[in-house]
Amino acid sequence: MPEPFVVIGGDAAGLSAASKCKREAPDRDVIVFEKGQWVSYAHCGEPYFVKGEVDKLEDLLSLTPAEIEERDIDLRRGHEVVAVDPDAGTVTVEGPGGEFEQSYGDLLVATGARAVTGPIEGSELDGAFPLHGLDDAAAIRAFLLDPSEDALADVGGTDFVDRERVERFGGMAPPETAAIVGGGYVGVEMAEALSAHGLDVHVFQRSGHLLSPFGEAVGEAVAEELREQGVTLHLSEEVERVAGDGRVERLECAGGTALDVDLAVVGVGVAPNTDLLDGTAVELGEGGAVAVDEYGETSVDGVYAAGDCAEDDHTVTGEPAWVPLGLTANRAGRAVGATVAGDPTPVGSIAGTAVVKAFEQECGRVGLLDDEARDAGFDPVSETITTRSRSGYYPGAAETTVTLVADRASERLLGGTIVGTDRAAVRIDTVATALEADMTVAELERADLAYAPPFSPVWDPILVAAKVLNGKLKD
Ligand SMILES: Cc1cc2nc3c(=O)[nH]c(=O)nc-3n(C[C@H](O)[C@H](O)[C@H](O)COP(=O)(O)OP(=O)(O)OC[C@H]3O[C@@H](n4cnc5c(N)ncnc54)[C@H](O)[C@@H]3O)c2cc1C
Repeated sequence: MPEPFVVIGGDAAGLSAASKCKREAPDRDVIVFEKGQWVSYAHCGEPYFVKGEVDKLEDLLSLTPAEIEERDIDLRRGHEVVAVDPDAGTVTVEGPGGEFEQSYGDLLVATGARAVTGPIEGSELDGAFPLHGLDDAAAIRAFLLDPSEDALADVGGTDFVDRERVERFGGMAPPETAAIVGGGYVGVEMAEALSAHGLDVHVFQRSGHLLSPFGEAVGEAVAEELREQGVTLHLSEEVERVAGDGRVERLECAGGTALDVDLAVVGVGVAPNTDLLDGTAVELGEGGAVAVDEYGETSVDGVYAAGDCAEDDHTVTGEPAWVPLGLTANRAGRAVGATVAGDPTPVGSIAGTAVVKAFEQECGRVGLLDDEARDAGFDPVSETITTRSRSGYYPGAAETTVTLVADRASERLLGGTIVGTDRAAVRIDTVATALEADMTVAELERADLAYAPPFSPVWDPILVAAKVLNGKLKD
């Protein structure tokens, strides 16, 4: 019997790998070490839980610990792996009963990413939160409640939740003014979530645009939407510190702007969790995430990495890239599980396909936009069009803005964005599929996309954009 398949991290990548391996090779021992109490949870639902659209924390679990154990996976919650020794084929684990060593045959590092709050001072004050985990989401929602309400009952998840934190914030006077530091997708989702509770919401963004990876057309549409919904934007403002006497009272910016606030969301970005591998032969890529081959294997035989802690090859450039998102984590984990079970399965490439909802606006992006394309050595040509989402005579038709980017010489499609109110975001999947198929703009223009008045105009917005960009390329 081979040594066990050991997985570090019990969420998307880790549990996808463990489940797939167990399904393909039921006799293989599979052990999952998770340092926290939550496993198989959806980070992506956290803003909607804070908003109140998701009722209880347990609604955000894909599998309960009992369901995982029914799959014959040896799940150890509250167990942190503190060292990896690839030469000895062991990991060192700190659990409730103390420290011990566990040998492995294959090892998957699926430790995810962490919220980065630095270099902002004061992010440890009461009322300053990152949003990276169900306990953060629970604490924020408890803080929004009136102290007369039962916070533990409201948030749910009482078997696992950090009860002390929920009760502490639940007992405080609810906030009235919130600052969100960072106008990325989590910041935009949190602006909507906190506005729904009637807070006066301010978003601070260092650059001049919200949602920078989505390009200017999307950023401007989202800024307009947030302002219309009553959110105050502080663009080109660099937050230096959250100030207060034990509790958040004020936000101070480098340019001198200051604002009295009583809640601050300070997760300005994420970084891969790779400290565990310091001093080992496992190589990291340029961005600090673990470098892997097409099967998710690291520079050390038998040691794999998947999800937010790992790189993958980019669909357009073929070069390693770090894009920490949900599907890629699940997919890479599942592939590694199949590979260690004896069915070598590539983890797939990443196109950076992302969608986000900002109140009524739906936004999507994929591939390389102008600057990224130039940095990757292409000569990008782009075109932005605005058209209707359905036949103009059909109720519900709304403006939809599409940007497509192509390489001038090869006319190959490189990327695109979309924004609009009527199911705009999912249309980005057409562009993602075209990138996967290495299409030129002319090939995309000839794609046979669906048409009926309730769903689309005769010329789908993506086709209109391809037609206009193709014309520009032929000029
Ligand atoms: C608020 C929020 C919203 C998001 N929304 C979206 C979205 O809409 N769409 C999308 O595609 N993606 C979204 N994401 C990103 C998505 O959630 C991640 O890409 C995905 O969860 C990554 O899965 P993972 O398994 O790699 O890492 P994680 O989900 O971070 O899991 C890693 C696990 O490893 C554990 N761990 C770490 N170190 C150790 C150790 N040493 N020992 C034991 N256990 C350890 C951690 O406790 C954690 O449970 C969102 C993320 C956040 C935070």
